[in-house]
Amino acid sequence: MTPAKGYAAQSPATDLAPWNFERREVGLTDVQFDILYCGVCHSDLHQIKDEWFPGIFPMVPGHEIVGRVVKVGAQVKKFKVGDLAAVGCLVDSCRTCENCKEGLEQYCLKGSVGTYNARAKDGTPTYGGYSNFIVVHEDFVLSISDKFSLPAVAPLLCAGITTYSPLRYWKVGKGHKLAVLGLGGLGHMAVKFGVSFGAEVTVLSTSATKEADAKKLGAHKFVLTSDSEQLKKAKHSFDFILDTVSAPHDLKQYLSLLKTNGIHILVGIPPEPSKLYAFSLMNGRKSVAASGIGGIPETQEMLDYCAEHNIVSDIELIDIKDIHKAYDRMIKGDVRYRFVIDMATL
Ligand code: NAP
Ligand code: ZN
Ligand code: ZN
Repeated sequence: MTPAKGYAAQSPATDLAPWNFERREVGLTDVQFDILYCGVCHSDLHQIKDEWFPGIFPMVPGHEIVGRVVKVGAQVKKFKVGDLAAVGCLVDSCRTCENCKEGLEQYCLKGSVGTYNARAKDGTPTYGGYSNFIVVHEDFVLSISDKFSLPAVAPLLCAGITTYSPLRYWKVGKGHKLAVLGLGGLGHMAVKFGVSFGAEVTVLSTSATKEADAKKLGAHKFVLTSDSEQLKKAKHSFDFILDTVSAPHDLKQYLSLLKTNGIHILVGIPPEPSKLYAFSLMNGRKSVAASGIGGIPETQEMLDYCAEHNIVSDIELIDIKDIHKAYDRMIKGDVRYRFVIDMATL
């Protein structure tokens, strides 16, 4: 084992603080890389606070990880020492089930292994990117371009793929009207991809102060969801709503904004279940769907697409000691539009 250091929550009731732990030695097919930057996802906050299910503590969050390779196992083919490397939300899966074979490792029928708050196949807990280095099987390590500022690339590993994947699956593009509900980390990436794929994009937001930013990100329209007049005008407008909201919210008022046959795609995961009235769907044969992150091949495809189309995240770089200030702003919806930790401050 190799000594590592990071920031961990010792329990859902305690703040993150420096913590020393160990990672496995580099195996034949493993890549070890020094973590330079790690994005801050709302899922980190949900999990350290046990908002979804009882977590594994101590917990080192972080699954938007970029860095530079320092060691590779003898059988590693894709990476060499000195390369840039990245890891998202997954570090392992069975690789043999039908979903893994299709590149849908996130839906592994035997259960994929999350980058943190999960157990590796040998039962040991996984620890995420709020740390100085990581050791991951090369199959789950992604290649990134050196064309961009690295901190702005980090959020692509979760916020990027989580919004790219459903927009690709439902073939959202030219001729479609897409609404992005919630302009935070995921939301701002959804706007960038939606615009890039040729859709007409509207941001639905609770924050009037984000209107100018929404337009700068490329959105064509903005609807302030607390303004009933604006909502009324937006009724029956959208082919798709991509719902990135992290807190409980009333689906009914948003479903009324869909056209006939429209699809409301959930990617946000509020701590409580949503109420769904059959009438809200029946009146226009609407659907509610959901999508989880993305598989490894599609994550690489998204990273390559971003490099080709000059897409990165809009970020605020933070010192790791300010992580709780960042979480406080996240809870208030004041993320513009992804916090990224400069791991040199660890
Ligand atoms: P975030 O940066 O905090 O953004 C969430 C946005 O939701 C806020 O900026 C705010 O936007 C809006 N919002 C917050 N509270 C609201 C409320 N009560 N009603 C309406 N809108 C509200 O979070 P994120 O990192 O983008 O993550 C968003 C959600 O996606 C989280 O639940 C996260 O766990 C989940 N997630 C899911 C996956 C997946 O695989 N499906 C992957 C990653 C993350 P406005 O100010 O514009 O209203
Ligand atoms: Zn995430
Ligand atoms: Zn599998």
